[in-house]
Amino acid sequence: MTETALTSLLEQVDERKSELIELASTLIRFKTPSPPARNTEEAQAFISTYLKDLGFSIDKWDVYEGDPNVVGVLSGSNSNEYKSLLINGHIDVASVEEGEQWDQDPFSPIIKENTLYGRGAADMKGGLAGSLFAIKLLKEAGIALPGKLTFQSVIGEEVGEAGTLECCKKGYEADFAVVVDTSNCQIQGQGGVITGWITIQSPQTFHDANRRSMIHAGGGLFGASAIEKMTKIIQGLKELEQHWAVTKAYPGFPAGMTTINPAVIEGGRHAAFVADRCALWITVHFYPNENHEEIAKEIEEHILNVAKADPWLCENQPTFRWGGSSMIEDRGEIFPSLAIDENHAGLRTLANVHSDVFQEKVTIGMSPTVTDGGWLGQAGIPTVIYGPGKLEHAHAVNEQLSIDELVQFTKVMTKFIYDWCHTRKEDAQS
Ligand SMILES: [Zn+2]
Repeated sequence: MTETALTSLLEQVDERKSELIELASTLIRFKTPSPPARNTEEAQAFISTYLKDLGFSIDKWDVYEGDPNVVGVLSGSNSNEYKSLLINGHIDVASVEEGEQWDQDPFSPIIKENTLYGRGAADMKGGLAGSLFAIKLLKEAGIALPGKLTFQSVIGEEVGEAGTLECCKKGYEADFAVVVDTSNCQIQGQGGVITGWITIQSPQTFHDANRRSMIHAGGGLFGASAIEKMTKIIQGLKELEQHWAVTKAYPGFPAGMTTINPAVIEGGRHAAFVADRCALWITVHFYPNENHEEIAKEIEEHILNVAKADPWLCENQPTFRWGGSSMIEDRGEIFPSLAIDENHAGLRTLANVHSDVFQEKVTIGMSPTVTDGGWLGQAGIPTVIYGPGKLEHAHAVNEQLSIDELVQFTKVMTKFIYDWCHTRKEDAQS
């Protein structure tokens, strides 16, 4: 494509801005909050049809009933010799809670002062719409990409359900992947997250009236309140968290990102009992040079040492259950971390296109949150996060996206898809 042809293609994004906004608004109108989830069938059918009309072959399957994944593949005209690209985004959005003070219905998007408002505008129906529209522009310009293009619209990201992992298990891969999730058009990697349950279980159950014999001189009853013992575990976790903050570091992150959050606690039967069970749900963040297996092991070792120093806990050691496949099904999740290689040809190409379109250098760094990028990275696909929208607006009341940013993002994707899928496999340095 000549420079002029490309310029006119990018100008079309401006000229057809209302179409782009309508596409983003259409996606927002599909009510796909998670929780409650199991509500993405219609939205996914829409995306599936959209891709099919652009010549993609479609693979659509239920990850959960009512929550299908959609993967569209556009086979390149010369995919043996040209680079392939994977674009990934999630169709579910954060839940809307009773009593939230929205200025309008969260699922009836509106435009005010050049800003699109609605649930999912920033996270991440804007990113999905911009990418889909970019593909449409290329297609309508009659461009046949030589490299293969794969588009994944996945479910479950908001509650740690592995829609993307399911795509990886099916073997979808590419030479480079872009997760078009909220990054304010910065190129980002991410740390990882694993959740875990720590449980203290007493082998015996005691009536509340036994408490005196259990805790006072001469009482003679060897027992404990699982709730009180859990406070020791919480204290131990805090010490480890502090030790990590002092000793661990990773470029692109402020010190102390490796937090251990005691998020949920459950314990006791009712007030006539000494609590015989207590369970703590924790959220642990780790750096891209760590993995969740190591992190779980570090915590277990430390907490078992804490338990050893307590006469009752050393005989009634806490147990651990790590990760899970869904916050709402088995109450647990894992997001692998994602390191980025700043010299990777895909990242360099994206950075160059960004500079051309935005007329300023792209910021490359680390996301303070987690996305599905970790799963793609773990599957061996060089991946970055790059999408429109600000994190402060994601999940927020009056969620919003700047129309200018959406337009610029769409231009970047149009040119980037073109450039990368026209890169010969041997031309790229990595
Ligand atoms: Zn997101």
